[in-house]
Amino acid sequence: MADIVVLGAGVAGLGLAAFAARRGHRVTLAERDGPPPEGGAHTEVADWERRGVPHARQGHALLGLGIGVLRQECPEVLADLTGRGAVPVTLETGGGDLGLLSRRLVFEAALRRRVAADPAVTLLHDKVTGLLSAGAPNGVPQVYGVRLAETGDVAADVVLDATGRRSTAAAWLTAIGGTAPRETAQACGFSYIAQEFALGEGRRFPSLRAPVVYELDFATVLAFPGDNGRFHLSTTVASHDPARTRLLDRTVYLRFLASVAPVRDWLDGAAPVGDPMPMAGLENRYRSLQADGAPLVTGFALVGDACVQTNPTFGRGVSLGLAHARTVADQLDRLDQEPAAWATETHEATDRCLGQWFEQQVATDAARLAELAEGPHDESLTARVLTALAVLREDDEHIRTAAERVYHMLLTPAELMADRKVARRVLAFLREHPDLRRDHVGPTRQDFERLVAG
Ligand SMILES: Cc1cc2nc3c(=O)[nH]c(=O)nc-3n(C[C@H](O)[C@H](O)[C@H](O)COP(=O)(O)OP(=O)(O)OC[C@H]3O[C@@H](n4cnc5c(N)ncnc54)[C@H](O)[C@@H]3O)c2cc1C
Repeated sequence: MADIVVLGAGVAGLGLAAFAARRGHRVTLAERDGPPPEGGAHTEVADWERRGVPHARQGHALLGLGIGVLRQECPEVLADLTGRGAVPVTLETGGGDLGLLSRRLVFEAALRRRVAADPAVTLLHDKVTGLLSAGAPNGVPQVYGVRLAETGDVAADVVLDATGRRSTAAAWLTAIGGTAPRETAQACGFSYIAQEFALGEGRRFPSLRAPVVYELDFATVLAFPGDNGRFHLSTTVASHDPARTRLLDRTVYLRFLASVAPVRDWLDGAAPVGDPMPMAGLENRYRSLQADGAPLVTGFALVGDACVQTNPTFGRGVSLGLAHARTVADQLDRLDQEPAAWATETHEATDRCLGQWFEQQVATDAARLAELAEGPHDESLTARVLTALAVLREDDEHIRTAAERVYHMLLTPAELMADRKVARRVLAFLREHPDLRRDHVGPTRQDFERLVAG
């Protein structure tokens, strides 16, 4: 049994605390935001102060990978959520996999209740201010604990940073004589606008897929069905788009949404809840604690968004965070080895878990940004393959099942193309359709500018 300190009780930190406790470890979890309020799903979304997660009220998709991890590790959380109005959805993956329709804060509150009730977890309402180190031979600090603003120093066999995309691990590591993580970063170049809605009396969601993606020439609209008849309609536009701020006016945003034909099905009878919420400054960022085959630090690892954050257009962050939390929890049983070996092994396991998804997101975003900047042009191979899959899946059950597994991250893109049946059909289709382009829906750019100006 090891003593583990987890920093940050977002989805990855909560998952990690629960999974580590299940494996017999003693966990201290430090989180600066207080607990969810009593009173049910709508109260959690309306009143839970989550200053540490500014995007907590944006639409969230919960994909098969993440829900599969929870079903294995903490099925009681899913039962709690279903009892509170979240909706499990059987996926077309051919394997009985489930997705879940739930607003992010409802999901997170259930996970937090589960962890707070776990006798092996001490959940501290406190702010992390730094790391404790037993020295830094050759500039590689050995972390043995953490400093908290109120509680003081807490010792641990390993400290796991799950403080999210704004993690200050770089400053903590340099303060103890180490070096900052190696980073691969790409500004996504997108801004988000999200508006919550309540379904009209007796209405159903037009689709149970989360997210449903509608691509325009200059923007993408995403629908996120959630718990208790609530859903989000989110829009991503290029961060440099001058029309972006106009969409924050609710009347303008609703007028724009109504101009996108397939989105009208969502708006029919629905009532907006609150105002459009912006979110900018998003990045794809991979922080690594390894350089030239050797660790930059021992006794310390990054988990969830603190390690890898991706542009949320595919709704992957929560699932990747939970899958990564399970990967790191599995590593805890191997802490008896030499610290540098543990650090390297954990880095390698992390890369197997997250690396391909990160690279795919970077390639997809680069292609989409080029398209937004230059107008329709020759699409990247990734984009062309995605379009081919979208067309072929309509009539081909094998492709539909395989594509759905990739969408839910139950199969990697490389595994998909290693499926000979899929590869043969996709390549034949691309040969037969050299000018293949996705159909974009909604108003032209000119009409859009008129709509948002009026
Ligand atoms: C606009 C937007 C839309 C998204 N949509 C989706 C989606 O549809 N599906 C999906 O799966 N993902 C989505 N994501 C991504 C997803 O929200 C993240 O991947 C997820 O929040 C990562 O979880 P985490 O636990 O790693 O970090 P976080 O959720 O950010 O949690 C970090 C925690 O650490 C705490 N903390 C930070 N610093 C300290 C400190 N010094 N001391 C104590 N506590 C601290 C914070 O308070 C917070 O609770 C979206 C993200 C954005 C920005």
